[in-house]
Amino acid sequence: MAATVIDGKAFAAKVRGQVAEHVARLKEEHGITPGLAVVLVGEDPASQVYVRSKGKSTVEVGMNSFEHKLDADTPEADLLALIDQLNNDASVHGILVQLPLPKHLDEDLVINSIAPEKDVDGFHISNVGLLGTGQKSMVPCTPLGCLMMLREHHGSLSGLNAVVIGRSNIVGKPMAQLLLGDSCTVTIAHSRTKDLPDVVRRADIVVAAVGRPEMVPGDWIKEGATVIDVGINRIDAPEKGEGKTRLVGDVDYASAAERAGAITPVPGGVGPMTIACLLANTVTAACRASNLAEPEGLTA
Ligand code: NAP
Repeated sequence: MAATVIDGKAFAAKVRGQVAEHVARLKEEHGITPGLAVVLVGEDPASQVYVRSKGKSTVEVGMNSFEHKLDADTPEADLLALIDQLNNDASVHGILVQLPLPKHLDEDLVINSIAPEKDVDGFHISNVGLLGTGQKSMVPCTPLGCLMMLREHHGSLSGLNAVVIGRSNIVGKPMAQLLLGDSCTVTIAHSRTKDLPDVVRRADIVVAAVGRPEMVPGDWIKEGATVIDVGINRIDAPEKGEGKTRLVGDVDYASAAERAGAITPVPGGVGPMTIACLLANTVTAACRASNLAEPEGLTA
């Protein structure tokens, strides 16, 4: 039976709509306009695209967008001074430093200098600790988006076997924590995992966050499992013409869709949810900053 396609684009539009409604209420009832500051250091083309798209999406839901573009050779002290200024600016509720940073900058130091309550990427060590201990935190956007889609599809995740392939700090590890928080039995697989096909075949939920095009074939997928494909890989597509490329995930979509119960496509699955969750985190941060009720369903 063909899998249900989990439409991340449509889901993300719904989340953005909920964020926009909440922003309108915050403005009308409390005179608060949530603000997101995005800091870009250098001219990495992919990062420039991401930052532009984040700014545009922020404005579209009625929030303030503050973009700070710094030269690639900006001294660390100057970047830290800017973050300090944003930490102390009451009109800024969320701060995001676009990664990767140029080599001379210490990423951990920079991320950990953001006020944890404004850390809408959820990468600050305090937020990592809060998530790991099941406390209220800012949750990394990509795994949060995956969790929202899983909850929407399954209702309760309690007792399901979940396998997360990949143990990065930005996707794999927080994803595993979130699934554990929803009472899944969680396995984290990585490049040293023995007999990965066998591990994946036991999963009711597979989250692939590896960065290897179409690495997970359909015959690793248990009949009826839910497959969340985080991977975004650009590969050559000679069938589209010379020099053309296309995006694929970490899962071989065609064969996996024959066995899975539900699956996210690439593009149009996890990707659109990431920015939607960034907006959700910013509105959540704005509510928390003023001790107001948080919007329901927009955080873990
Ligand atoms: P990463 O930091 O490179 O981590 C990749 C993980 O995959 C590592 O833990 C690595 O294991 C594991 N791995 C590598 N080869 C493997 C293999 N053969 N078998 C099993 N595990 C293997 O990547 P990431 O930042 O988590 O990103 C993963 C993918 O998600 C990328 O394609 C990225 O573009 C995409 N992504 C998408 C979004 C989105 O918005 N949709 C957001 C973030 C990332 P070791 O730890 O043992 O090396």
